[in-house]
Amino acid sequence: MQTSWKCLECGKKFGVGEWACADGVSNHRVEQKEYLMDDAPTDPGHPERGGADSLRDGRTRICNMPPDKRAVNREGEVQVIPGGYVEFVRGRYATDNPELQYLLDKKGGFCTPERWAQVWLSQGQQMELERNRLAALSARLESQQNELLAQTKQRVANG
Ligand SMILES: [Zn+2]
Repeated sequence: MQTSWKCLECGKKFGVGEWACADGVSNHRVEQKEYLMDDAPTDPGHPERGGADSLRDGRTRICNMPPDKRAVNREGEVQVIPGGYVEFVRGRYATDNPELQYLLDKKGGFCTPERWAQVWLSQGQQMELERNRLAALSARLESQQNELLAQTKQRVANG
């Protein structure tokens, strides 16, 4: 698990707990990371009628991200700084906030993009993705072939 980072904003290296950036208020900023959850809502009642797609637009909140913090102010009083939550939309959440990345990494239980597609995309969407993948693959093969052909012609022309 990652426990040290370099801020994209101020360039400082920092570790767990040292989240505050140069302004002392906002957190350091790191490269964005995406988290995927395979918690798609299912509708066993109408699996084949196409209605399942609307149910797939789920939102999941994870609370205590970050948790409440206690800070002592100048008068020596303990103040509670309220925490927050992160919201996954359709099983995806991305953040460039290293504190949230650390907490999410610690929590764990996320899934791979393949697993995400399996549970969140309808069969039609999965087929569409597969079609796009194959189309891109065949376009790539075709351009490689053309390149080889051009190279061969060049060689023949050069004798
Ligand atoms: Zn910073």
